[in-house]
Amino acid sequence: MTRDGKTNTHTRKTPPPGCCCWCWMQPGLPPDPVIATAMHRSATMDSKATINKGNFLSQQEDFHPFIEALLPYVKSFSYTWFNLQAAKRRYLKKHEKKMTHNEENKCKRDFQNENPETKQKWAARLLGKLRKDITHDSRENFVHCISKKKTSMCILSNPDQKGKMRRIDCLRQADKVWRLDLVMVILFKAIPLESTDGERLEKACFCTSPSLCINPYHIQVLIKELDLYLANFINDEENQSEKSHNSTRKFSKTIASNKVFSYDFIAPTGVFTSSELWSITQGKMKWKG
Ligand SMILES: [Zn+2]
Repeated sequence: MTRDGKTNTHTRKTPPPGCCCWCWMQPGLPPDPVIATAMHRSATMDSKATINKGNFLSQQEDFHPFIEALLPYVKSFSYTWFNLQAAKRRYLKKHEKKMTHNEENKCKRDFQNENPETKQKWAARLLGKLRKDITHDSRENFVHCISKKKTSMCILSNPDQKGKMRRIDCLRQADKVWRLDLVMVILFKAIPLESTDGERLEKACFCTSPSLCINPYHIQVLIKELDLYLANFINDEENQSEKSHNSTRKFSKTIASNKVFSYDFIAPTGVFTSSELWSITQGKMKWKG
């Protein structure tokens, strides 16, 4: 049930092709005018509702229009990413060695294939936490920023006791806490940042509150010479692969398996391919990704 007593209805059982977020689970009746403007895709949904998402969200302790408005914009990649980083740390702590590539790949697939409701519960809970860390005056602006990709205004977070940006636990009983601005770029822009600190982030020149602003469109990822250097090799490898095999798919498999790479002094360690990460960021990833 919504707060005005209406029962929301799900409009789809499955995500539309190519959808990378939770928009397909949004109800047709947004609970207030502010939220209504944020429900960007609900009008396109199938009218034959079969899943009652209102009932689902009403069971959540963090249910709030803020959550409902932002849920469609959370990248499903973020669920896999946060969980994968935590799983790798847990494994290292327990076994005193890193996961093998195959183990990490299996772990990634397990998180990707997790039940959609579990993913959504996680996202709703995290959005509830984030809401409490955003200043009261900035909450509505934050919804507008994310839903309309408005970059102009700073979104202020509540500072910690030392006046610095707060950190939050993105998973239950996780061993690490992430800076709020870092969480925002992973959650809404699907940028695969591994460190829970902000050394790879910088605020844009137009951001007027760099120490506390968490508007993901005010946050830039720092690129160093090494990143550019490596990007050239990946690009070159992709071009060569296209020429020799006429298939970018083969290139992806090559990099993912980490077994064949023309430049033997480069050893990719991640389980996401460059083309996969590109698709995720561009919103072309399948919903389960
Ligand atoms: Zn700002």
